[in-house]
Amino acid sequence: MMPVVALVGRPNVGKSTLFNRLTRTRDALVADFPGLTRDRKYGQARFNELEYILVDTGGIDGSEQGIELEMATQSLAAIDEADVVLLMVDARAGLTSADEAIAAHLRRCQKKTLLVANKTDGIDADSATGEFYQLGLGEIYQIAAAHGRGVLTLLETALAPQLEQLAAGSAPADEAGDIDEDGLEFDDAMLEDAMAVLDEVEEEEAIPFEDAPIKLAIVGRPNVGKSTLTNRILGEERVVVYDMPGTTRDSVYIPMQRDEQDYILIDTAGVRRRGRVHEAVEKFSVIKTLKAIEDANVVLLVLDAREGISDQDLSLLGFVLNAGRSIVLAVNKWDGLSTDVRDEIKRELDRRLGFIDFARLHFISALHGSGVGNLFESVKEAYASATKRVNTSMLTRIMQMAQDDHQPPLVRGRRVKLKYAHAGGYNPPRIIVHGNQVKDLPDSYKRYLINYFRRSLQVVGTPIRVEFQEGD
Ligand code: GDP
Ligand code: GDP
Repeated sequence: MMPVVALVGRPNVGKSTLFNRLTRTRDALVADFPGLTRDRKYGQARFNELEYILVDTGGIDGSEQGIELEMATQSLAAIDEADVVLLMVDARAGLTSADEAIAAHLRRCQKKTLLVANKTDGIDADSATGEFYQLGLGEIYQIAAAHGRGVLTLLETALAPQLEQLAAGSAPADEAGDIDEDGLEFDDAMLEDAMAVLDEVEEEEAIPFEDAPIKLAIVGRPNVGKSTLTNRILGEERVVVYDMPGTTRDSVYIPMQRDEQDYILIDTAGVRRRGRVHEAVEKFSVIKTLKAIEDANVVLLVLDAREGISDQDLSLLGFVLNAGRSIVLAVNKWDGLSTDVRDEIKRELDRRLGFIDFARLHFISALHGSGVGNLFESVKEAYASATKRVNTSMLTRIMQMAQDDHQPPLVRGRRVKLKYAHAGGYNPPRIIVHGNQVKDLPDSYKRYLINYFRRSLQVVGTPIRVEFQEGD
């Protein structure tokens, strides 16, 4: 499971500067989908091979009385759900009463907390940070978020247990067919040979995905109808479902079967748990949702027809795409709406969700059950797309057709030339295109290629990543 790191501290100490630095590379992927708003509070980041969730708690304003009461609810929840908290202070401003109040709270929570003194660039850091020992949080990590200084050491310490775990159980990366033959001139015969070899490698490494259960996460913001839908799905089944244990900060994993296909439903709304212990309402947790998305094969994002598309919907969608998960969209509460209203909603969906036209969109009523059964066809289709096996010769042929239909542009007087393409991984599908000057391809041509691959390979409901490598 992905660890959660929470950034805490009074305003202006540099939290968002650090947040941006750590999440920047992942953001580039979301930028491929113009139309997404990015929620600056939650981000995915990666340290070496370890992916983690970073939360900027933002909302803590230490100038108020009674810090515990005044802390924004989301900030409290984030601290509660975090594996490690980074308390950030400003080395230039010195110790403030707000820092003390926040530190006192964290000591009471008994969370693993690291004290981070920021803005240590250009000052005598040791003497400037000495007074922060009074906070009683032990060692002080000196950083300059704006310049990256001290950040790696900080992460190494913050994520040490998770990094160790990863190193102990990690398999080698799945870079199946990367070739790296510097300086070789590729003629056609060599290309054929190379492709034949790559095809063989790919055959051997192909894992049959078909028998594995599909992990399906049902996510959405509060009140869109997740619990109603989960109950509807489970109620319709003739199969026996049983619950796997989980804590309140985790989703409930429910194995089920439908039309001979095994699924594990990842229930973020906590329906089964609620039923068991008669808990009134499951608290909506962004972090729980993000973890469920990471753990799923396919995400069913539930939207509320009556509420339209909100920024929170879009940021959840961004997270799904960023994580490379397959997606099916369900517009719920479609019952009892007039034709006019339905048309209006459809226009809004077109306008705001046009950028993910590769995902299936269903109009359902979880309450009455209409449309619910059809969701599973799209879930299976999206999963099949994400795990589809494609070999090098096929990808290269498709790439060649795309190039013949529409030549790449000239860059600095030379025509960009695509040479061959191979699979770089599955789930989500990654395609690596090799050629000359490919790094200079304009975004419009990259999008054209992605769409060409998508249509030719009939990939539905899953983001494709195409990467470009210079040379052979
Ligand atoms: P937040 O309110 O805690 O999110 O703080 P910001 O990230 O918005 O940073 C507040 C101010 O501190 C901005 O003007 C930043 O440019 C500045 N700042 C952030 N990190 C550093 C740093 O490492 N060194 C210096 N000198 N300034 C920084
Ligand atoms: P959750 O917070 O996403 O789990 O949402 P719930 O399943 O608790 O539903 C929130 C509210 O929406 C409840 O009052 C449901 O009865 C109502 N609701 C859920 N699905 C539908 C639907 O398909 N049609 C209508 N009209 N109401 C629905």
